[in-house]
Amino acid sequence: MEACNTVEREVDKVLLKFGAISDHASRVLLDIINHIFNLKKELEDAPTDHELTPGQIHILKQAINKVRETVQLLATDHRELHSTVSKVGKAIDRNFVADFASTSREDVFSGPEKVQLLNQVICQHFYRQGMLDIAEELAKEAGLKAEEGNKEPFSELNKILDCLKVQDLGPALEWACAHRESLLAQNSSLEFKLHRLQFVGLVRDGPSRQAEAVQYARTHFPQFVQRHDKEIQSLMGTLLYLPQGIKQSPYNHLLDPNLWVEICDVFTRDACTLLGLSVDSPLSVCINSGCTALPALLNIKQVMQQRQVTGIWNGKDELPIEIDLGAEGRYHSVFACPILRQQCSESNPPVRLVCGHVISRDALNKLSSGNKLKCPYCPVEQNPADARHVYF
Ligand SMILES: [Zn+2]
Repeated sequence: MEACNTVEREVDKVLLKFGAISDHASRVLLDIINHIFNLKKELEDAPTDHELTPGQIHILKQAINKVRETVQLLATDHRELHSTVSKVGKAIDRNFVADFASTSREDVFSGPEKVQLLNQVICQHFYRQGMLDIAEELAKEAGLKAEEGNKEPFSELNKILDCLKVQDLGPALEWACAHRESLLAQNSSLEFKLHRLQFVGLVRDGPSRQAEAVQYARTHFPQFVQRHDKEIQSLMGTLLYLPQGIKQSPYNHLLDPNLWVEICDVFTRDACTLLGLSVDSPLSVCINSGCTALPALLNIKQVMQQRQVTGIWNGKDELPIEIDLGAEGRYHSVFACPILRQQCSESNPPVRLVCGHVISRDALNKLSSGNKLKCPYCPVEQNPADARHVYF
């Protein structure tokens, strides 16, 4: 952040100078143009056989000199600007690390299979964002098959979301109704929230739409009474305040514009869960995690290089330090072996001993002698072959 601020200060300096020079230049140029224009007019007005007097020649010479001087001054100003601009470049070089190659592993993206996978993820990201034309162009150029891009669910979801953003509930209600059972199975209140917004839209318009609002409530709310009885009671309360308007009632929180932001969120989450898609684009999750991890990785890399232990970085499928991406970046449980104090991995999975204690496979191998193993915790004697692989 500090690096960004430093660069921004340099950019501000350039902009300030730019503004000053631009103001000054246009003022000076305007003066000169006016002056020349007047001289030209005088020359034009003079009779055709008029000869210039020495005084007039002097004025013309002065004008020519003034133009030459001004152009020179402006060129100098312009040259000085260059040094200020180049300072920005230097500030960027000084404050940002240009070479991130040291923190990445080349083999991760090499090979046609991996490139294809990468293209697929990028393509999916564009479909998610509703940038269909870019996604299709990429799919075409990268030779992705239609199903690899996963276009279908996103184009439908994006259409519905676009409608929600302009407060059109129709397509979302239709979708929620069509998927009612699956939504209820995952305990979603999406459909109720959509109907609630629709109802609030009717009562907001005042007494003129009272009958319509009552009819809407009668048609749609009974099915939600079990789960949302309190909310429905409160929605019915709004009918009392129709004459004076909901805005001046204790129910004015129902007009909160944030409810529209919330509904887009609820829709995205519930629809993604239902379709088995992650809520966030995998590409943005990766990039955000990478940006969070980068400073720590660059630091540790430097330390490792100083101590000449670079080798241990590339050898393993894991990072040399633990990086906390926050609660949002945690997707599954991890198991750290209580004996070796290492996070378990595919090559060193957790195993459950006969007594119920869980340690890592490496620890098991280290602790067992022949076909005997004493649990380090209880300590029950057992055969290491009886230990079972545990899946989280
Ligand atoms: Zn045990």
